Amino acid sequence: MNDHDEVIMKPVCAPRRITRQISVGGVTVGGDAPVRVQSMTTTKTGDSEATIQQIKELATAGAEFVRVTVNDQAAADALPWIMANVNVPLVADIHYDHKLALAALTAGIAKLRINPGNIGRKEHIREVAAAAADKNVPIRIGVNKGSLHRRYEEMAKLDPAGAMVQSAVDEIETLAAVGFHDVAVSLKSSHPGEVVAACRRFAEISDVPQHLGVTEAGTLLAGTSISISAMSVLLSEGIGDTVRISLAADPVYEVTAAFHMLQSLGLREGFARVVACPTCGRVEVDVVALATRVEELARDLPANRIISVMGCIVNGPGEAKAADLGIAAGRTKVAIYRNGELHRNISKDDLEEVLVEEIERLK
Ligand code: SF4
Repeated sequence: MNDHDEVIMKPVCAPRRITRQISVGGVTVGGDAPVRVQSMTTTKTGDSEATIQQIKELATAGAEFVRVTVNDQAAADALPWIMANVNVPLVADIHYDHKLALAALTAGIAKLRINPGNIGRKEHIREVAAAAADKNVPIRIGVNKGSLHRRYEEMAKLDPAGAMVQSAVDEIETLAAVGFHDVAVSLKSSHPGEVVAACRRFAEISDVPQHLGVTEAGTLLAGTSISISAMSVLLSEGIGDTVRISLAADPVYEVTAAFHMLQSLGLREGFARVVACPTCGRVEVDVVALATRVEELARDLPANRIISVMGCIVNGPGEAKAADLGIAAGRTKVAIYRNGELHRNISKDDLEEVLVEEIERLK
């Protein structure tokens, strides 16, 4: 552990709020469980081979459970085969048709997500709750401001966060009335301020675990930035039990971004830190390509490792002091630092080979 580790790993958040704990196929959420990372497939669930492939990619990236849409019978029919071929718990995303929720439960799904704005009549919800209770399957009440039930429309015009919270509270009561308490809640909007307000207000009145997310956040860079800005506020206040960064991009990025966020806040261990200079006119190497390659090679390193990639020798020695491995490019040579000390100068032609060797040493 060096000075840099201290800065990165020191928690910057208030203590986590203690929520009631649920289990998603054996993965605990809430209570004393770490903040969980989840994502959602973008394939047609009925295309089981494509869905299996994407779930495996998400699991490899670190997703602890994965949501799939169950929007038609073909999707419901594909679930048993998909579940037999992946090793993370799956969550069925249900809109409109409670029969698909029942089909997903029959197939052995680990969790349901229902949208209270469109799931329909209370007796349908009660039927789903009875079947879920029978199988010990939790339900996430996924409130989305864009699809609130019409009974909250007027309230939403004046107080959108309040309308979202009220929708969640009413749905929790509907389930509680039939003895079902195994729930989580999400309060999503595409507006980060509304997400923060709704989640804070809900946290004041309920111990139900919260899944955080800004819905339809946008493309890779914009969506990541917007999501993290909202979630960091909430997480720093101890609010949030699972997260999803919803991106219009390959969902593997959702998982990577979530771990970077949680690691930066001291809430989870993620990846080894690759410090990379932004480059300037002094640069002597393609830093973007080099840092990207280092990130790839460093994926399996312990999370407390630090590697610095500097485009010239100006800041190379300084950054290398705080790193396990430092790389600083010169005109023809590259300086390699180990634990802050200059270890050797190598030819640029040997850089790939040396990187592989030096990063392997850090495992
Ligand atoms: S390390 Fe060198 S190339 Fe990178 S930003 Fe600093 S001065 Fe520029």
